[in-house]
Amino acid sequence: MTSRSTDSILQGLKKTLDKIALFHGHYCPGIAYGLRVSLAGIKLMAASDNFELNVISGTTNCPLDAVQMITGCTVGNGKLFLDDRDRQEFTFWNHSQDKGIVIKPKKVFYRESIAEAEAMERFAEGDKSRETLRLVNARLQNKIESILLAEEKDAVEIEDINYKPDILKG
Ligand SMILES: [Zn+2]
Repeated sequence: MTSRSTDSILQGLKKTLDKIALFHGHYCPGIAYGLRVSLAGIKLMAASDNFELNVISGTTNCPLDAVQMITGCTVGNGKLFLDDRDRQEFTFWNHSQDKGIVIKPKKVFYRESIAEAEAMERFAEGDKSRETLRLVNARLQNKIESILLAEEKDAVEIEDINYKPDILKG
């Protein structure tokens, strides 16, 4: 992959993330993980043209807002089921094919710079100077970029399931 195409992919993902952040209320690594989970889930489940998707979420934390926005499965339309066990785990179930996958975000490693690490320490001690805030924000942006650009195998863990989850047997 050329750096140019990586650049345009990143720009596209960031635009999507900006929209999710508006809905979610803040910009955070959690929604970036949620976006990666959603894209992996849709890609794998959309093999058939016309599919009916349900998502079961094992968490009610930040990533869930991204999953609701990107998959279109929401609490409101009844396509999202909450099975809150405080686990970062999302089950995608394709009714048309009677098969599903469980997707877990993987912690993407981000190597912060010394300047960023020092700024985080100052910030934790109450320093809100312009320079410290600039570095803290740059670190957040860089961390989010590393989540968006990680290879799929490094961003999510995917497991096939062929039994219908109990929560969907109503
Ligand atoms: Zn958040």
